[in-house]
Amino acid sequence: MDGGIVDSRTSKLTIDRGACGYLTIDLTALCRNYDKLCSIVAPARAAAVVKADAYGLGANQVSKALYGRGSRHFFVAHFVEALRLRPHLPRDASIFVLNGLLPGNETACAEGGFVPVINSLDQLQQWSETARSLKRRLPAALQFDTGMSRLGIPPEERGAVAAHLTAADHLDILFVMSHLASADEAESIQNADQLAEMRRVAEEFPGYDLSFANSGGIFLGGDFHGVLARPGIALYGGAPTGGVRNPMEPVVRLEVAVVQTRTVPTGARVGYGGVHVTKTETRLATIAAGYADGLPRSLSDRGSVYYNGVRLPIVGRVSMDSTTIDISALPEGTLSFGSLVEVLGDHQTIDDIARDAGLISYEILTSLGHRFHRQYR
Ligand SMILES: *Cc1c(COP(=O)(O)O)cnc(C)c1O
Repeated sequence: MDGGIVDSRTSKLTIDRGACGYLTIDLTALCRNYDKLCSIVAPARAAAVVKADAYGLGANQVSKALYGRGSRHFFVAHFVEALRLRPHLPRDASIFVLNGLLPGNETACAEGGFVPVINSLDQLQQWSETARSLKRRLPAALQFDTGMSRLGIPPEERGAVAAHLTAADHLDILFVMSHLASADEAESIQNADQLAEMRRVAEEFPGYDLSFANSGGIFLGGDFHGVLARPGIALYGGAPTGGVRNPMEPVVRLEVAVVQTRTVPTGARVGYGGVHVTKTETRLATIAAGYADGLPRSLSDRGSVYYNGVRLPIVGRVSMDSTTIDISALPEGTLSFGSLVEVLGDHQTIDDIARDAGLISYEILTSLGHRFHRQYR
């Protein structure tokens, strides 16, 4: 622990450096998750998807740890993320820009040695033009839309793309890729449809390596692995597949400080709008995290936190900076000013809290706030 000091007897914060709680990111668990995914896709390799600041956990720290574990392929969404990540990774790490380049970023991308994911014929022509004008060979990945209608070269542009590639000898196409829309639903017919379309792409672009699977895709079987899988959420401990036991290890713990406790009588209104009215005398605690810290407002009167395994329901609306919980289930005096409660940890995973909030684990992770003391293990 490099942060505040927690008294193990009272589990209170004694030095908090102004933080309202501890967000602990377990890089060793992250690496074990990476190893596990690597062993499933072998002999294919696994990249690391570190877009959105590695799903909120810190792209620099996460990328460094996974580089140490053998990853050499890092995917971000926006070019700005690639620029920020570059100084933190050795030169032999490749950084791919999933959303491709916005007009005007081509030269900076080429000079920085980044790999754009080409999503259209236009973008391909522009990148070729950049290579010609810089008189250099430039790397690229080609993304095809196999049925998600989000990003990627649409079917009607494939012919022109193939013709362009035959004429252009100044681009190194590292692989051909596509993205699955329903990989977390193992039974979805869309997976088979997209696989069939990917096979047509592979026939039209023979000789290129393939990259297809995200986290969910890794668990759909070898047909989906290609040469390079692109896991994100599974690295960070989220369930890759819905409805089955999550094989990944949790990576994040979040403990938040109690800032006040009180006992209120029957009929007391709790929080904004007074939407929660106590049915009996109730002991409450207010904790120092709210929706600005990533506790979704949709947890109002639904979610919970834990203390020593005891469930403590959220009562009333989640505020911006605080949330009120019912601590009546604990012996009186257990929690007081400065005590820490578990928001994420042994008793509540990112998938649990996402379910209670009506969200997905990706939203929970990417919303985790910056007012906690972040510590990396
Ligand atoms: C975000 C993303 C991934 C990673 O998805 P997960 O479901 O988090 O594993 C992989 N590929 C592409 C194209 C993505 O946009």
